[in-house]
Amino acid sequence: TSYGFRRVNEGEKQGLVNDVFHKVAKRYDIMNDVMSMGLHRAWKDAMVAALHPRRSADYKVLDVAGGTGDIAFRIVEASDRLAQATVLDINGSMLGVGAERARKKGLSGNLEFVEANAESLPFEDGRFDAYTIAFGIRNVPRIDVALSEAYRVLKRGGRLLVLEFSDVEMPLLDKVYDAWSFNAIPRFGKMITGEAEPYQYLVESIRKFPDQKDFARMIEKAGFSRVTYTNYTGGIAALHSGWKI
Ligand code: SAM
Repeated sequence: TSYGFRRVNEGEKQGLVNDVFHKVAKRYDIMNDVMSMGLHRAWKDAMVAALHPRRSADYKVLDVAGGTGDIAFRIVEASDRLAQATVLDINGSMLGVGAERARKKGLSGNLEFVEANAESLPFEDGRFDAYTIAFGIRNVPRIDVALSEAYRVLKRGGRLLVLEFSDVEMPLLDKVYDAWSFNAIPRFGKMITGEAEPYQYLVESIRKFPDQKDFARMIEKAGFSRVTYTNYTGGIAALHSGWKI
């Protein structure tokens, strides 16, 4: 069965996404390096630099679709190990890998891991100083619902940062990128995990995600102010920022 290029409705989508990340959890970090040729590290560093986390023990960040912890670990380190980060993910296998990595890095005291859905966050209103989500929002079936939830759990003055694959806005680079993602990514996926289909699905989910400007409008619609974006590597990825004021 190939679910790579057929239309997937909202209801089925979450199940497919969960399958993918359940299967790849143990190899997720190495796959990221291979498929982005290491670039995801620089993009994540830039995201956390843009956040500029406060060096304070009462600074609370929620990292949604946090997976194996890459963003949360960087935030805690950037705060001199003072900030408290909650890593939330719908997939217990990804969180399991994350918790183990946190333990090895000696960061467990700054982190909590929560298995839940971005569309329905198990937190009271106005709890967090920042909400981050990296390469996660395109997997969520109802993006508008996830964005309203982000708005709800942020404090006034809180910051939203979304890192996601976006529209390549550089001539030539877009052609190279297409060749890489449609051919190489499913092939590497198969080599490393034994399956190509989940990767075809992920590549397709990138195509379907709104471009920089449309996504900025969705963020505004959820209530955020001063919405801006920055392209990374010609728009292969983009960082969107918004404030709850
Ligand atoms: N943020 C991490 C990173 O940048 O390395 C992980 C990104 S990974 C590509 C996407 C993650 O989104 C997976 O761990 C997946 O389980 C999670 N996810 C998918 N749908 C979700 C949902 N509805 N709510 C919360 N997490 C979700």
